[in-house]
Amino acid sequence: MKLSFHGAARTVTGSKHVLTLSDNRKILLDCGLFQGGRELQGLNHDFGFEPSDISAVVLSHAHIDHSGLLPKLVKEGFTGPIYCSPATADLAEILLKDSAKIQEEDTKFINKRRHSSDLEPLKPLYTMKDAEIALSRFVDRKLNYYFEVIPGIECMYTEVGHILGSCAVNLKITDKGKTKNICFTGDIGRYSHPFLKNPEKFPQADIIICESTYGDSLHDDAALNENIFYEIIQETCVERKGKLIIPAFSVGRTQEIVYALNKLDLAGKLPPIKVFVDSPLSIAATEITKKNKGCFNRHILKVMEKDKDPFDFKNLVYVSEKLDSQVLNEYKDPCIIISASGMAEFGRVKHHIAHNLENEKNTILIVGYCEPNSLGARLLKDEPQVRIFGQYLNKYAQIKKIKSFSAHGDYSDMLQFLSCQDPKKVEKMFLVHGEEDVQLNWKNKLIKIGYDFVEIPKLHQEFFA
Ligand SMILES: [Zn+2]
Repeated sequence: MKLSFHGAARTVTGSKHVLTLSDNRKILLDCGLFQGGRELQGLNHDFGFEPSDISAVVLSHAHIDHSGLLPKLVKEGFTGPIYCSPATADLAEILLKDSAKIQEEDTKFINKRRHSSDLEPLKPLYTMKDAEIALSRFVDRKLNYYFEVIPGIECMYTEVGHILGSCAVNLKITDKGKTKNICFTGDIGRYSHPFLKNPEKFPQADIIICESTYGDSLHDDAALNENIFYEIIQETCVERKGKLIIPAFSVGRTQEIVYALNKLDLAGKLPPIKVFVDSPLSIAATEITKKNKGCFNRHILKVMEKDKDPFDFKNLVYVSEKLDSQVLNEYKDPCIIISASGMAEFGRVKHHIAHNLENEKNTILIVGYCEPNSLGARLLKDEPQVRIFGQYLNKYAQIKKIKSFSAHGDYSDMLQFLSCQDPKKVEKMFLVHGEEDVQLNWKNKLIKIGYDFVEIPKLHQEFFA
């Protein structure tokens, strides 16, 4: 049996790992898109394996850096099933279609420029049609029981608390008469998520493929950040009568913020101002969240005994239409606008920031990771101006950041997740999904608690297992 790593290898995005049995049958764990700078994006053109050789895909969760190349895999000859949890199937439907739309629109834009320079037009990485075919191959499977992936490989999904539907992938593999357990952690969540279940124990593994995103850091205390969030709303919307603009990822982060605002509303602490969620994808993701109550923890279920819909409150307005979004530019009263994209690099939130940055009454609040060149990161830099849509704008508004709205656990969460394992029974641990320096730190922590063989694979590197 062999394991090879074709993405999220010494980097965060592009999660893709191939398991090859001794008779050469292969399954693929995740099929993620590389995201970030041009160099990383370039890696999306070559899988490093033959898609038609893959018998089945097992997906850990719906995030695009774990699922976003499935349409390309299908386009290039993969014909098997794609296994995932029920909530992942729901989210993948909106995320893959959105991703295909972006691929098509971006290519159209680039081709306009190529046309004027007499260059051949480029083809999109994949189209809406490819995404639809990929989605037709999805097969959902419940958590906590084994199902057959291919003869000789069984899989059990267990809760990992990262986003709605996210799971650890526990494989039981019988190859050449021997049985081995492999756990692919996917992305590990926090133990203090406001409405998702905690990560759960998983069967003792012989091999663990473990994520490493925050392998070297600890998050701020969640309760402390709730207070900071409340103070920012008070200062911006009540004292200065300004607008609070929050760039937020459509899946996960937006629902967390709406839920936090609902909590303030229930406590009678939310000022009587409008809260706009301005993103069709965020609206769709919120509907899917509401539908998948089986993923909820006991805290939100307790809240729901009194408040049937904790993702809605009196002054909350979901904005779907583009025209209604543009009307918000004329809105004069204090308000909160939550809009995508999360790094403020594109999408409606970029327009809201451009319209509101040069007014000292307003605040732009960054609540998630921002890639160093993104608008979100440039706003946080200690510079008086920032370039948006080709224009230099003054940063008269306040720019604030709250760190703890993270879907990933920190290293103490990850160690807690791994605490159900006897490290001496784990033959090999492979670290994926992290920046290299972070992974080295995480590796040292794991060696200290008794994991003897910890490897940090390079892109396309293969190991006998
Ligand atoms: Zn993720």
